[in-house]
Amino acid sequence: MATLVQKYGGTSLGDADKIKFVAQRVAAARAAGNDVAVVVSAMGKTTDALIALADSLSSSPEPREMDLLLSTGEIVSSTLMAMALREMGVPSISMGGAQAGIRTDTAHGRASIVHLDPARVRQELDAGTVVIIAGFQGVNDEMDITTLGRGGSDTTAVAVAVALKADRCEIYTDVDGIYTADPRVVPDARKLAEIGYEEMLELATYGAKMHPRSIELAAWYKLPVLVASSTKDVPGTLIHDTGSDGDNEMEISNKVRGVTYERNVARVTIRGVADNPGISARVFEPLTAANISVDTIVQNASTARLTDLSFTLESRDVTQALEVTRRVATDIGATDCVAHDHLGNVSIVGTGMQNAPGFASRMFRALADAGINIEMITTSQIRITCLVDESQVAEAVRILHDAFEVGEA
Ligand code: ASP
Ligand code: MG
Repeated sequence: MATLVQKYGGTSLGDADKIKFVAQRVAAARAAGNDVAVVVSAMGKTTDALIALADSLSSSPEPREMDLLLSTGEIVSSTLMAMALREMGVPSISMGGAQAGIRTDTAHGRASIVHLDPARVRQELDAGTVVIIAGFQGVNDEMDITTLGRGGSDTTAVAVAVALKADRCEIYTDVDGIYTADPRVVPDARKLAEIGYEEMLELATYGAKMHPRSIELAAWYKLPVLVASSTKDVPGTLIHDTGSDGDNEMEISNKVRGVTYERNVARVTIRGVADNPGISARVFEPLTAANISVDTIVQNASTARLTDLSFTLESRDVTQALEVTRRVATDIGATDCVAHDHLGNVSIVGTGMQNAPGFASRMFRALADAGINIEMITTSQIRITCLVDESQVAEAVRILHDAFEVGEA
């Protein structure tokens, strides 16, 4: 008997009818002779609504309270799913993350899974019961409930699949796979039949809708992950080990695999920073202490022992970040400190880039020809990211998708 781990996202569980619909799919998977464990997200926009409620009552809710509050969203959908299955005559049981054996560290709001003991889940599966696990949460050593960060149910699903030694993890969502670009922005974007972990990790980190840590975890254990539609019966995308040298895909190895984007990006620049050991640490330590997560960091070569230090972050954190860095800037005698909001990232991703020159200049030329100004550039081995004005993000994505012929198979 195969063990199947399926995850269903919030939009697929938006109301009672949708839960019933998913329950039928789960029942079918079990009827086909599988042991089935299901990981669920909170219904619809529940998590956003809970955050808004908390914000309406407190300017800085305790992280511990926040986690216990947010964990309830997934508890609701797991219990309702179990009830729907039982109603259909399928034995099933719901479990919170703690009951499913998910132990985490103590970092409330962005906890990492440190251990997953699948004994109880396995016992229920062996008895023929479908287990519905509340995603996105676990419990720490103090027995406090923690959450894994927004979108964390993907990571729960992969962790459960690894612990149960499942053949693969199936992520069912409202998009039917991974596309070469967001189809809402690029109408001729193409669905990928497969993609390697490395490329998927870059896509997930820079915009595609999956929790990046789920990809890291899957890559580490070489667990194949299928991303497919929760409603339509069409082939999805298999994220798996495609072979690092791309030999089996000679035709496409020199190509950009995907164009991705992020909106709501802000940048903070500290100017006239002394080029001395320890300065960067003094800038970023208070940001960490304030729990502000920074995305990319760029430090310039210095002129006359003075340099500029820029970093990007999510727009919603920019006011707080500016407060913190202004204070530090005064302490370290920097010239000044400015923030730019309403920016966005566009990235091209592909393992083919690491062996072939010219991708960067082609990207910059394409953006230049469209009159799009580049505010900052960052790269990895297999990704080039340009920071641009938020209003030009969609156009930039379309232009790059076109320029690199990403839509062509
Ligand atoms: N409900 C949580 C969120 O919206 C976790 C998830 O859906 O994966 O971020
Ligand atoms: Mg998600």
